[in-house]
Amino acid sequence: MNHRSPPGTCALLSAVAALLLSALPAQAQEKVLNLYSARHYQTDDALYANFTKATGIRINRLDGKEDELVERIRNEGAASPADVLITVDAARLEVADSLGLFQPVKSKLLDERIPAQLRTDTWYSFSTRARVIVYNKAAIKPAQVQTYADLAAPALKGQICVRSGSHPYNLSLGAALIAHEGEARTEAWARGLVANFARSPKGGDTDQIKAVAAGECGVTVSNTYYLARMMRSTKAEDQQAMAAVGIVWPNQATWGTHINISGAGVLKHAPHADAAVKFLEYLASDSAQAYFADGNNEWPVVKTVNASNPALTAMGPFKADSLPIGQLSKTTVQAQKVFDRAGWK
Ligand code: FE
Repeated sequence: MNHRSPPGTCALLSAVAALLLSALPAQAQEKVLNLYSARHYQTDDALYANFTKATGIRINRLDGKEDELVERIRNEGAASPADVLITVDAARLEVADSLGLFQPVKSKLLDERIPAQLRTDTWYSFSTRARVIVYNKAAIKPAQVQTYADLAAPALKGQICVRSGSHPYNLSLGAALIAHEGEARTEAWARGLVANFARSPKGGDTDQIKAVAAGECGVTVSNTYYLARMMRSTKAEDQQAMAAVGIVWPNQATWGTHINISGAGVLKHAPHADAAVKFLEYLASDSAQAYFADGNNEWPVVKTVNASNPALTAMGPFKADSLPIGQLSKTTVQAQKVFDRAGWK
């Protein structure tokens, strides 16, 4: 408030002004958190309710698609009510970060609990998912598909089903390949992959798994939670599909299987920045971690948290890529250019 009382204002008005001014700090401290969320898992409701129970901070949630939420925060600018953006995929968080939407967070607790390679100065990972190779057991031998590089081998001509090369999951995989093997090798790989396509990219990861199971193609890559979801499904068609496919942890002899994340950051103009940091710290707590990760069949990032998810356990332990997630996200734009040149639409 910049209004000043003109001289001679009556005592009543002064009293009203004093009341208004005294109300301001209270309003600023109102216990709410405005959460922009691109996670659409029903289990998140209970997760957020527990935060309110523990802190008294009410959560106003705005659900939306990742790109729309980012666009909205951008348009709202300094007037944005958004405190926290929560979404999936390092590439998407990097887009928000490169637009300057986040503010740096200082939290000893987050730094202690979240492994260094799974956080940046501005945003944090709260769960991980891996991008694995899925093959049709009748058509492909697992020895043929032990690495991402194998997917570009001429022997797999006509065997690859995969979603769009513009999708963040594939861009993040491309970013990992660029970081480990360089741009030239990644482009050669993408060209080989495109040459092996059984069909033009369409649909999501689940559609590819089903196509592989049905024998429309021999191999695909998928995020682990889609597989876990189908493994836990009681539908006969899902169980039949899972019986027809095998899963490989790629690159176990080299840099490990590419992993991606669910993550969140505090927004630059957050009206409730303290509550926002508290919320991120809550997501790193033992109970929230187990809940957050398991709700979408993912792994918690906090090492001491034991999440027992039968589907993930059945897939077995694996060596994950240790590339820092902040570094990975920096090469996603480059990955898009590489995929475009290679014709991976
Ligand atoms: Fe997904």
